[in-house]
Amino acid sequence: MSSEVLPKSLPIHPKATRFLHDISVNDNTKYLQQCQRELDSTLDQIIETTLFIRGDLPLDLIQELDQTNKDLQAQYEQLKKSGKILQTAKDQYRQDSNQCQHVESLDDWQNYVNVGTNSNIHIPKSLQAHYEESVKSFETSNTPETMLDAQSKTTMILKALPQIWSDPTAVIRDEIPSADDDDLKIEGGTIDLECAITCKQFVTPMISRKCGHTFDKEGIVNYLGGPNSRTVKDCPQAGCSKSVSINDFVEDDLMKLRCKIADCLKQRQIADSDSIDVI
Ligand SMILES: [Zn+2]
Repeated sequence: MSSEVLPKSLPIHPKATRFLHDISVNDNTKYLQQCQRELDSTLDQIIETTLFIRGDLPLDLIQELDQTNKDLQAQYEQLKKSGKILQTAKDQYRQDSNQCQHVESLDDWQNYVNVGTNSNIHIPKSLQAHYEESVKSFETSNTPETMLDAQSKTTMILKALPQIWSDPTAVIRDEIPSADDDDLKIEGGTIDLECAITCKQFVTPMISRKCGHTFDKEGIVNYLGGPNSRTVKDCPQAGCSKSVSINDFVEDDLMKLRCKIADCLKQRQIADSDSIDVI
């Protein structure tokens, strides 16, 4: 009695590739976004309350939030990475399968049985084997960090907070990673809290994603010809060579915070000098 050797894996039939779609990573993005919103709201409350009572920044709480923020980022990164690993494995398995004879009939099947004795037949690696290879290749490659938009904002604010709390004009390193070093809005080592267009302190600061320059909403909207304008003009910052349009601007949360802290410090100074007058 002869025993037949069954193939360890078979090519996936083109009609069956839809079943590959069903194999996916459990997407926790919504859950992570919810956690991030709660974290951001806690951070907001701490800042607002501390500004209101004109107190000192609770550094221990800020550090805890910073750690939580990092954990959330790591989880999001892991989630995205797992998705990419699985997608790569599925793509490779499909490609591998396409180079093989599909099993359409019993004769085709017979070709894959006892394949050890028939070296003309190419057998695809299993999805599992492709997955393991994919895991290895991602371990050695340095894929850039993935972050939710909200996470990068929170990271920036948590990093800047201890410094700008005592000096709202303090320069934070890497604040504008996209801008060139010689193209920053820094003059004399401080950040200007006044808009270069309106010459007043920022009310609704908007930052250009192209060059990192910030202007007040009122000023930049007027400059570019209205809120729905498609006009593209040179960035109004002296020395900036970038062209900008309304769509390039997003709210500058860090600048907003700097102005809030500056106002609070001013009020504190007024209150302090009032109490000295009373004495
Ligand atoms: Zn600019």
